[in-house]
Amino acid sequence: MHFGEYDSPLYRQVIQQFDAVKEWTRVESGVLERLRIPKRAAIVTVPVRMDDGGTRIFLGYRVQHFLTSGPGKGGLRYHPSVNLGEVAGLAVIMGWKCALMELPFGGAKGGINCDPSKLSLGEVERVTRRYTMEMIPYIGPMVDVMAPDMGTNEQVMGWIYDTYSMHMGHNVPQIVTGKSVLLYGTVGRREATGRGVVYCIEEAIEHAGLSLRGARVVVQGFGNVGSVAAYELFMRGAKIVAVGDVNGAVLNTKGLDIPALSEHVKRGNLLGEFPGGDTLRPDELLTLECEVLVPAAIERVITGDNAPKLRCRVLAEAANGPATVEGDRVLRERGDIFVIPDILCNAGGVTVSYFEWVQDIQMFFWSEDEVNRRLRDLMRKAFMRCYDFAQENTTDMRTAALILAIRRVAQEKIQRGLYP
Ligand code: GLU
Repeated sequence: MHFGEYDSPLYRQVIQQFDAVKEWTRVESGVLERLRIPKRAAIVTVPVRMDDGGTRIFLGYRVQHFLTSGPGKGGLRYHPSVNLGEVAGLAVIMGWKCALMELPFGGAKGGINCDPSKLSLGEVERVTRRYTMEMIPYIGPMVDVMAPDMGTNEQVMGWIYDTYSMHMGHNVPQIVTGKSVLLYGTVGRREATGRGVVYCIEEAIEHAGLSLRGARVVVQGFGNVGSVAAYELFMRGAKIVAVGDVNGAVLNTKGLDIPALSEHVKRGNLLGEFPGGDTLRPDELLTLECEVLVPAAIERVITGDNAPKLRCRVLAEAANGPATVEGDRVLRERGDIFVIPDILCNAGGVTVSYFEWVQDIQMFFWSEDEVNRRLRDLMRKAFMRCYDFAQENTTDMRTAALILAIRRVAQEKIQRGLYP
């Protein structure tokens, strides 16, 4: 199998997942072939004046999976490991996510191979502005709309908005989502991914015959997604027994005080140093006994090695691509874990990004209640579409989600026809 320029573990993973279900979709092979490969990719050099007077060159990427349904949509990631293949894999995941949620977007993803924790604020700003300027030929409110991802935040989105608007000579807030509310972001966007995860867990736990109240939850990752999911679950009476990230983990079998843990982390402390629990090795986290396991950090953490040892009833994939192909195969063979696949589980973020884009186009803003009500409605409907498909076809939720997503884009492509 040839993966060409995009060859990387994550890209291979998403294409293998695609190939495993493609027969099921009953879509003609020419259309499937087009959906297997991103429409286009841009690689730019990002030269940046550093605070010490020197210059450093970073590499910036943007991959667009397809633009059939609308503008490309997806986050921008700042991480030293970012490369073309990883970004392409993430773009494909975004494509299926948007299609599954029936949003008028194609999938896209961007990234820069920098470590924002080792750059000053001014350096991050210059990286962002130069990258945005280099990307102007490939982005636009009707072409491709970026959003936060690992290593980026509201402030970075604000700089993208400003740089693009300065170049256009007028205000274009709909060029990017995940902006601060003051800069025409939407209320509820920052919490959206975590909330969407929780709406899915509420559905899944009911179908697994369990109750959220008192359920033991383990969360990997305490960033924007993991911390909000943990908080929302805590508020619903679940017992968050362990939380971990790359630097450490903390365990309390009686349940962690999540607001206090958030405060602790906000003050710059490590999770493992939280006085309200015991230190745990991060590698022990995923195999703890619990009702709900939430990987909310990086991709490829559930593997062929640890999947047989998982002791959860519901696996809520809040991260993108957390299960490898082997990990996923084990989960399917076991059949005793209710898996909420990533393209459904973490789709709350891009869904509220869609709400932000709509509000910015109309310059008419909604209340937080309205945002949350609509988010909940779309998440539940997507969950039920997957659940019903899985039941009717005796398959798992990931297969169902993928088939529904692929079929939708394929049907759009078939009805539009091939140009010229
Ligand atoms: N980076 C997020 C994701 O992976 C959000 C993308 C967006 O809002 O466009 O889904």
